[in-house]
Amino acid sequence: MKIHEYQARRILQNFDVPVPVAEVASSAEEAEQIAKEIGGRVWAVKAQVHAGGRGKAGGVKLARSLGDISALASSLIGSRLVTKQTGAHGAPVSKVLIQEGLNIAQEFYVGLLIDRQAQKPILIASAEGGVEIERVAAESPEKIINTYIDPESGLSREQALEVATKLGVEPAVCPECADVLVKLWNTFNSMDCSLLEINPLIVTAEHKVYPLDVKMTFDDNALMRHPELESLHDPEQEDPTELTAHQAGLQYIQLDGNIACLVNGAGLAMATMDTIKLFGGEPANFLDIGGGASVEKVTAAFEIMLSRPEVKVILVNIFGGIMKCDIIAEGIVQACHKVKLTVPLVVRMKGTHEELGKQILKDSGLPILSAESLGEAAKLAVEKSRE
Ligand code: GDP
Ligand code: MN
Repeated sequence: MKIHEYQARRILQNFDVPVPVAEVASSAEEAEQIAKEIGGRVWAVKAQVHAGGRGKAGGVKLARSLGDISALASSLIGSRLVTKQTGAHGAPVSKVLIQEGLNIAQEFYVGLLIDRQAQKPILIASAEGGVEIERVAAESPEKIINTYIDPESGLSREQALEVATKLGVEPAVCPECADVLVKLWNTFNSMDCSLLEINPLIVTAEHKVYPLDVKMTFDDNALMRHPELESLHDPEQEDPTELTAHQAGLQYIQLDGNIACLVNGAGLAMATMDTIKLFGGEPANFLDIGGGASVEKVTAAFEIMLSRPEVKVILVNIFGGIMKCDIIAEGIVQACHKVKLTVPLVVRMKGTHEELGKQILKDSGLPILSAESLGEAAKLAVEKSRE
């Protein structure tokens, strides 16, 4: 689960991380009022969306007067911001963060995440702050400092100091920088983050260390340990199709191809996507309807798949274990009555109540293409996707 920068800042504050003075606004008037209260002559106005790359996309700008604040806030609020990370539709901006303007002396990249290969948390740091870390990693990997963290003992002060020194933080500021790094680790660890990215972490001309930008993502599987985070969820920032699917209790991920898949079980769904690819096709989604899916769930899944204009064919691949084939068949028939079936439908089902399921499909009179094996089903779907 992702949250906004203004929310992540509050969580950092709970862990004693110093953050720049800032407040979130939902209107131009509010933005101006906040800037007045913050004082000073320069402010940063930052669009709140669940995506990075805002600076380059015009979502982060400096204001030098209250008039600037008001103009920037009203042009951002209510708009959609398209950044490198949002896709062409962009993300809606309903709030802006008004932050005190700071004199940046040094900028760094700092990221905490889990390195799956090493099976450990890792602190990634680079003196090339403020720019795309992916580019630094590709073009000059030697500029990236990787520090593995023992999950039991956490990031030690010695490790943090070493990172600060290697980054080239001014010696006088290294202790404070190390302190911030340890507090960032504490946040990452205690909040079960899957990513905590600070780009840039800055040292100001006054020798203060601040995270100037925060990206905080939580491990969904640990959310039950943090019920307080539920209210931070902003469904507006999510892909609408994925959101509808999750609300219907489906495991759904939007992909780029044109063969929609409806499968039970994540493993079978992966195998189905692999087989589609093997025959030269491209899956339009990952969709796992789960073990005990009801007719309603199947109907919801069909509605979602049929709502996507790019879908050329639907491939249903069911293993009837706990899930019975006749339930799926009922669901397919009901869904096709409710939503007009506008694309070819390939069905392969095996297992519990298989014969009954096949009979239901046959009796429905729907133009369903039946397949016996997964290979046959995938091949057929790929053929249909090219017609
Ligand atoms: P992102 O583009 O989505 O990663 O948004 P950031 O929050 O990182 O903002 C983009 C850039 O704006 C930062 O890398 C900074 O260089 C700049 N920026 C943000 N706040 C200030 C500020 O107070 N003063 C100055 N000089 N630059 C700022
Ligand atoms: Mn940034």
